[in-house]
Amino acid sequence: MSEQDKIHALRQELHDHNYRYYILDNPIITDFEFDQKLKELQVLENAHPEVFDPNSPTQRVGGGLTKNFETAAHQFPMYSLDNSYSFEELKLWIDRIKKRLNEDSLELFAPELNFNCELKYDGASISLKYKAGRLIRALTRGDGIHGDDVTQNIKKIKTVPLVLQGDYPEEFEIRGEIVLPKDAFEALNKKRQEAGEPLFMNPRNTASGTLKLQDSSIVASRGLQCIVYAMVSEQAVYTSQYEMLNKAKKMGFYVADTAQLCHSVEDIESFINHWDTQRSTLPFDIDGVVVKVDRIELQERLGFTAKAPRWAMAFKFKAEQVLTTLSSVSYQVGRTGAITPVANLEPVLVAGTTVKRASLHNADQIEKLDLHLGDTVFLEKGGEIIPKVTGVDRTKRRSDSSPIQFPDCCPECHTPLVRKVGEAQHYCPNEESCPPQITGRIQHFCSRKAMDIEGIGEETVVLLVQEGLIKDVADLYVLSADQLTGIPRLGDVSIQNLLEGIEKSKSQPFQKVLFGLGIRYVGETVAKKLVKAFGAIERMQEATIEELEAIDDVGQRIAESVYNYLSTEENKRLIHRLRSAGLHLESTNSKEEQSSGILEGKKVVVSGVFERFSRNEIKDLIEQHGGENSSSISAKTDYIIAGAQMGPSKKAKAEQLGVPLLSENEFVEMLGI
Ligand code: AMP
Ligand code: ZN
Repeated sequence: MSEQDKIHALRQELHDHNYRYYILDNPIITDFEFDQKLKELQVLENAHPEVFDPNSPTQRVGGGLTKNFETAAHQFPMYSLDNSYSFEELKLWIDRIKKRLNEDSLELFAPELNFNCELKYDGASISLKYKAGRLIRALTRGDGIHGDDVTQNIKKIKTVPLVLQGDYPEEFEIRGEIVLPKDAFEALNKKRQEAGEPLFMNPRNTASGTLKLQDSSIVASRGLQCIVYAMVSEQAVYTSQYEMLNKAKKMGFYVADTAQLCHSVEDIESFINHWDTQRSTLPFDIDGVVVKVDRIELQERLGFTAKAPRWAMAFKFKAEQVLTTLSSVSYQVGRTGAITPVANLEPVLVAGTTVKRASLHNADQIEKLDLHLGDTVFLEKGGEIIPKVTGVDRTKRRSDSSPIQFPDCCPECHTPLVRKVGEAQHYCPNEESCPPQITGRIQHFCSRKAMDIEGIGEETVVLLVQEGLIKDVADLYVLSADQLTGIPRLGDVSIQNLLEGIEKSKSQPFQKVLFGLGIRYVGETVAKKLVKAFGAIERMQEATIEELEAIDDVGQRIAESVYNYLSTEENKRLIHRLRSAGLHLESTNSKEEQSSGILEGKKVVVSGVFERFSRNEIKDLIEQHGGENSSSISAKTDYIIAGAQMGPSKKAKAEQLGVPLLSENEFVEMLGI
């Protein structure tokens, strides 16, 4: 056997031993023997750099530096989960699901509605991409659309297979949670204490912090684990969540063996109760349970909201509660002028972190809690949730304490506050010159989801406003290097980045500009809808409230807000200046302009895999041409875009209902693209 062949054989052998040890928990060699073989492989690899393999078992040990974590787009977005905190809420969700599924009564073979219950691992989520059985990329969740590439560090986690076993789809993404087991966390803190280093707060923060360490040899030493819970692929090789977990295990992934298939609400309740009381026996932290509709076919029919799957629900365990003292209340002014009261508390440790502040939301909340200065309050914090004051221990109240008075005037600019009928929030109406509003608006405009101006962080905005260089977002576009030179904390490189970032932002599409203006209630989705409906800002300015309200997802509240914004003289001037600066204030989406509208009002189902486009691209095309995507075939379906490997049952159903099938080519021809 040549040395190269020996390398290949050893790699395969070590992958298998890894799998036996970490996944099957059934090793057939000792740790010592394993280490010997690994060393042997390392020596051979050093002598033969020509057969380097980024997925070799030797890549799990040793170092490697990542200077900057590149961001990359997720192939499929990483959604969040809806939460419920009581069985009542959970039952309501199940009722909603049943209703939704029954609505489509034309479904011919409605499979049984089962739920797969899993633990909600409390760590950092990760998306792993495999191609031809090899790990090629690992991304953090990031904002759900883009994540950071942490592949180098992920390879150090023993429960992430570098090369897969058995059968697997050619290309897929698998999602899981990176957790730091409790004992590893404690051991780590013990070492840090001995070394006089500051201690880590909790396993979750440590896990996500570790993923972003530059030195991957430290990652290797920390003992992170990866527990997988979801797979996304265009070629589904399973029909249920439960089956998927079993398949993932066979491929070499670590799945917790706690998942349980439940057939009734009672089953689900007892699963939840069991783990609520038993969670301390688990090797890692959990913050609840996730209940998922088991059948993939039903999941597809239920689909997603903008934020989360409709077919899954997290049940969060009751948060830990502690008592502390309310020292004072401060009032923060947001970019829209909304005033948020914040409780300043005696620092207290709750769920692993020290809490000093908690939002009190609005005046009603303060009144409801009947808060007095110096009160002893109940504080709750669980998982990701911001700490919350949930009550007052009245027995501890001093008789001379005074109730918290919500201020009449803005704490920043002293303008009398206003409160609209039916709204909980107080606002400072001084939009023009209230400092935090000015700063907040510009920060929002520059933020990633809006104009994404690199080179201007939140601090820089504060600085520029303080220096009197900008007062509104249009001022950004007349900044010059001369004006910026000499400002403390702004070096030449920063100035150049800043100006380049501003210049580059001029090519952002209209919808980003519109969202960036920060019109109250106009989020990303509404901005998109407005752009689609009106095309150009002039047409939007001419629109009546009724015309605005006629748009999907735009209710009276939003319509009025948009109308008022656009008809204010000040804003008209701002828009005019932005136009002069060269920003896009009309739709430049060439795809949209090219839209034939040929699918207007048509319901289309996409099935199988395609050659020229990904499934999501096909779905986008359908929407761009006026059609509506639906996930299940019914008598209302107008077309099915059928790719390779379309399921036989779907095909049969299409035939039975007489729904026309279009191939990828026919579809492309129909759209004339
Ligand atoms: P949240 O961050 O509260 O919206 O919850 C969503 C997150 O829960 C996901 O991004 C996952 O990282 C995490 N999670 C933990 N366990 C599971 C599980 N069994 N199934 C799905 N998501 C899970
Ligand atoms: Zn103010």
